[in-house]
Amino acid sequence: MIETVCTIELPVDEVMRIKRNRLEPDEKKENQKRICIVTGIHGDELGGQYICYEIIRRIKAEFHLLNGIVDVYPGLNPLGIDAVKREVPPFELDLNTVFPGSNEDAMTEYAAAKLMEDLEGADVCIDVHSSNIFLRELPQVRIHSEEAEQLLPFAKKMNTPLVWIHPSSTVKKGSLAYALNHKGTKTLVVESGVALSINQQFCNQIIEGIFSVMHHLGIWAKESIERKEPVVAKEEDVVFVNGDCCGIFLPCVEHAGKVKKGQCIGRVLDTIMGAVAQEVIAPCDGILFTLREYPVVNEGSLLARILKTEEQENE
Ligand SMILES: [Zn+2]
Repeated sequence: MIETVCTIELPVDEVMRIKRNRLEPDEKKENQKRICIVTGIHGDELGGQYICYEIIRRIKAEFHLLNGIVDVYPGLNPLGIDAVKREVPPFELDLNTVFPGSNEDAMTEYAAAKLMEDLEGADVCIDVHSSNIFLRELPQVRIHSEEAEQLLPFAKKMNTPLVWIHPSSTVKKGSLAYALNHKGTKTLVVESGVALSINQQFCNQIIEGIFSVMHHLGIWAKESIERKEPVVAKEEDVVFVNGDCCGIFLPCVEHAGKVKKGQCIGRVLDTIMGAVAQEVIAPCDGILFTLREYPVVNEGSLLARILKTEEQENE
C-alpha cells in the first residue's frame, strides 16, 4: 500500500510528498518484524531506485514467502531527484545533515522529523547510497564505531565484499543512520557505484544482501544465495591516496582490482604543458575499493582508497 509520510506545501502551488510502499502479509503474523529500505536522501544517487523496484517486484512475485513488513521509501529527497541535485532545492541543504530534525523548523528539518517518526521502531533500516559524482565505490556497508557491535551481525549479511567501520559523513552526527541508531533503530548504510548512474551488478549484490537480512529477521522465508564473508575493515586498514597537484586524473588500473605496492594506479596530467604532473603510486598492496571517477583534481583531492592486504614477499 502506498502512503504519504510527509507533505510539505511549497511556493508556487507545488507540494513535496515523501512516499513509502508498505508490503505486508494479508494476515498479520505473530511477532511480525519490520524492515525499512530507504534511498534517495541524496537526489543524485540513483542505484537505490533500481534496488527499490527490484525488491518490490520480487516480493510481489513470491508474496507467499513474506512473513513481515517491508517498507520501501524510494525518494527521501524527491525535489533533489527531480532536479538532478544532491541537496534539497532550492536551499541546497544536505538532508543527511539535519537528522533527527524538528517539527517546528524549516522544510528540511520538518521532513527529517516526519521520517524519523515513521522509521523509528523498525527492526532494521537500510539506507542505500550511491557514492557521489567524484568517486566510484565497491559495494560496502559503512558503520560508525559506536554502533559496530550491534550492527556487525546484520552488516555481514549484506553480501558486500567490505564492511567499513569508519565515521564517514553518511553515518556521522546529523545523518539519518546516526539519529536512528541513537534512538535504538538499527540502521545500516550501504554505498556502491557512482552518482548519476546505476550499476546493476553492484545493485543486484546489495539486493541479495537485503533479502538475506530479511531472511535473518524472519521476514522472508527463503535464503536466496550463498554469501561470502566480507572483510571487516577499521580505519587503520584503509589507505587514502590523494593528489598533490591540480590537473586531470586518468586511472591506469581497473576499479575494484588488486594493486601492488609501487604500482602506478594513474596519472595527473598537466594539459597545457602536455606533461604528467603526478604519477600516482600505490603505497601498499591491497584492493582498490574507491577510485576517482571525476577527472578534474586539485591538490589534496581523493584519488583512491586501498584496503590493505598482507604484502607478498618474493613475487
Ligand atoms: Zn549519499
